[in-house]
Amino acid sequence: MNLSRAYALEADAKDPLAAFRNQFFFPKHQGEPVAYFCGNSLGLQPVQTGHYLKEELDQWAQHGVEGHFNGTRPWFHYHKFLTEPAARLVGAKPLEVVVMNNLTVNLHLLMVSFYRPTAGRFKILMEAAAFPSDMYAVESQVRFHGFNPDEAIVELKPREGEYALRPDDILEAIGEHGPALSLVFFSGVQYYTGQAFDLKAITKAAHEQGALVGFDLAHAAGNLRLSLHDWGVDFAAWCSYKYLNSGPGGVSGVFIHERHALNPDTPRFAGWWGHKEDERFLMQKGYIPEPGAAGWQLSNAPVLSMAAHLASLELFDQAGMEALWQKSEQLTAYLEYTLLESARQNERLSFNIITPPLPHRGAQISVLCGSGGRALFQHLSEQGIVADWREPDVIRLAPVPMYNSFDDVYRLGAALRSFV
Ligand SMILES: *Cc1c(COP(=O)(O)O)cnc(C)c1O
Repeated sequence: MNLSRAYALEADAKDPLAAFRNQFFFPKHQGEPVAYFCGNSLGLQPVQTGHYLKEELDQWAQHGVEGHFNGTRPWFHYHKFLTEPAARLVGAKPLEVVVMNNLTVNLHLLMVSFYRPTAGRFKILMEAAAFPSDMYAVESQVRFHGFNPDEAIVELKPREGEYALRPDDILEAIGEHGPALSLVFFSGVQYYTGQAFDLKAITKAAHEQGALVGFDLAHAAGNLRLSLHDWGVDFAAWCSYKYLNSGPGGVSGVFIHERHALNPDTPRFAGWWGHKEDERFLMQKGYIPEPGAAGWQLSNAPVLSMAAHLASLELFDQAGMEALWQKSEQLTAYLEYTLLESARQNERLSFNIITPPLPHRGAQISVLCGSGGRALFQHLSEQGIVADWREPDVIRLAPVPMYNSFDDVYRLGAALRSFV
């Protein structure tokens, strides 16, 4: 590896996924496409998204209510067109996956099913400083069940002076709280530090203690290779607008392991769209769930959001998660090298990478900047580099394998070295 433009261009020429970049719209800075490193916050728009949306708008304009049952993708079945590609993405059986609602809504629905505390077993183990929505969701669930969050929520903090949790410390904490643990609830990738957790090991350790395990995969879906079914994860949910490029506020995906999803007695909140499909329109009393994760649906599908998600999932199917991961490892390593080497060459740069090394990360590097951070962030923006600032002093950079190039990383490095 080296910092030359020639190196970056050669790496792009060898990249089998390089052409996917042309399938996306890039925002412009002074007439030139930006180097976009914010795909972990809002992924870019695929070119085909507009066509998919237009198809459904035309369908609605031309057929009105009949659009539920005719056309290429009848709305009545729309969620099903997403099930298989979403299942491939997270390593699940199709019956274990459904796309519906938004992420935090789904976390609540899943905790209704899988956080059922008793006097003896009522604790939830999670990472400290989790994404705020997850903290609020968990806290309100605990209160809803009549427990005290200070007693029921066990937050795991990194050791003094460290930024990431040590994998062994997580497993040890699960053992320590074992008999009192109702649920272990973690993110797949920590949004702030970029740490990727060992979901398989966490699942195993939690199950050994008789607890259930759920994951928020907001920063993991479309980023890490996942095998939710084989790992035996009880439930998971993710949003579609970060690495999954499905537009602001896009629909969320849900995984429920078949051992729960096929059990009609698994408690849940019900709505008509989760009712046994062939009897849904009999409009009768008495809820009978559709087998599988589909039996957790409440409302009829938000077809326009789902059309955007479908357009994006087709690109994931074309590229394949394995190939994306191969590129991701290389591109993230190149970003890490570029950051460290640029800091060595420009003494005005003083930062620390707080994201742990492989295999404990995905396509994100978080840089702790100290006092000059704001000025550096401002400088990068002026050079057409789109990164993301997280209070108090972290810049997050996501080199997304679907559309970022090695040349994007080169541009970031050049901007870093020109910081005065
Ligand atoms: C992005 C993100 C969310 C956002 O939740 P919404 O309900 O989609 O607004 C929640 N949790 C985590 C961990 C996230 O990264």
